[in-house]
Amino acid sequence: MSHIAILGAGLVGRLLALLLAKSSEQNVAPKISLFEQHDININHATGRVAAAMVAPLAESVIASTNIVAMGQQSLLLWPQLLQHLQLTTQLQQSGTLVVAHRQDHNELQHFVQRLKTSASQYQKLTSAQLQALEPELQGNFNHGLWLIDEAHIDNHQLYDETANALRGSNIHIVEQCKAHLIDEQLFVNQQPVDCDWIIDCRGMGAKDNLINPATPLRGVRGEVIRVYAPDVNLQRPIRLMHPRYALYIVPKANHQYVIGATEIESSDDKKPSVRSTLELLSAAYSIHKGFAEAEIVDIQAALRPTFMDNEPHIVSHGNRIQINGLYRHGYLLAPYVLQQTLMLLSQLGEPCSPFAVSVSPLNSTLVTQL
Ligand SMILES: Cc1cc2nc3c(=O)[nH]c(=O)nc-3n(C[C@H](O)[C@H](O)[C@H](O)COP(=O)(O)OP(=O)(O)OC[C@H]3O[C@@H](n4cnc5c(N)ncnc54)[C@H](O)[C@@H]3O)c2cc1C
Repeated sequence: MSHIAILGAGLVGRLLALLLAKSSEQNVAPKISLFEQHDININHATGRVAAAMVAPLAESVIASTNIVAMGQQSLLLWPQLLQHLQLTTQLQQSGTLVVAHRQDHNELQHFVQRLKTSASQYQKLTSAQLQALEPELQGNFNHGLWLIDEAHIDNHQLYDETANALRGSNIHIVEQCKAHLIDEQLFVNQQPVDCDWIIDCRGMGAKDNLINPATPLRGVRGEVIRVYAPDVNLQRPIRLMHPRYALYIVPKANHQYVIGATEIESSDDKKPSVRSTLELLSAAYSIHKGFAEAEIVDIQAALRPTFMDNEPHIVSHGNRIQINGLYRHGYLLAPYVLQQTLMLLSQLGEPCSPFAVSVSPLNSTLVTQL
């Protein structure tokens, strides 16, 4: 029986552990260990702080065509992944609405010009069409854009559900404990751990242990505010185009909304600043006056693990596989990246079944074998 050690129970690590455990139920039986430096339920995990949008079109204005293509695949793969893992968390797919205040209308036009997608994937909206989709935006905006297929996930539910699933599985979970790699050897609690495969999903925690140190990892800081707003009824993520910052509001369960996000080139993980908080809350209030009476649930900051090319990379060398650089695209890309990881493992000799019916070949832009 082979032993697979997964380092980091963030978004990628926790889903991968569950997938491998599931594939072990299908006749192949590796022992799986999952090492996490915090509690697997910790509130300030990057993937919990995130807005969790699956937004390949909106991201296409800043992301490569490869990321957009992988994101489009992920939109199809998310429901299959959730079903395969028997999770009740749903992909909520009602599109994204992009708006700009009257004085910033050219920002909206500029956004449309930069979309790397076919025109059939979005619809330009008049004020009346906008109101039909989101009645509570009434009167605020003359025009809008609907990115029809985009989606988002209730990431708190996903994290809670996957934590329960992990605890109920036969995965060996080691929490509150940092994993270290020294000369290809895994150490936990200063003790060497014998394993056949090391799958490093530590995000920023892998910064000093990269398989290919020529492509360093940096943190891109993001700040978000989660509010409870019973006076607000928005059905889908709203993105506001603005000359100084791009803001989004993402509806979550129980009248909670995630308002975000700043994007600051810094690995400083200090608490959110007053400036960011003022800007985010003012912009949210300019979209919907109901945010005035909202209760602030959390104001949080986290670092997006990012390579210099802003692309994700799966790199393998010997018995080590490193999955990192998901930047602002963890939710956008997770199912695709996981599917590719399972295929890579199979190709390297560790049999594991893919979770989706249709399997695309290994993506040479994403996967590197050194
Ligand atoms: C404000 C904000 C908003 C975002 N919004 C979106 C969005 O809308 N859509 C989207 O697609 N993406 C979004 N993201 C990005 C997404 O959250 C990340 O891409 C994703 O979390 C990366 O997943 P990961 O598993 O690679 O790393 P992480 O989620 O960072 O997980 C790494 C894990 O490894 C653990 N670890 C680190 N070092 C060690 C060690 N030595 N030993 C053991 N464990 C260790 C960490 O504690 C952590 O649990 C957002 C991010 C931020 C910050």
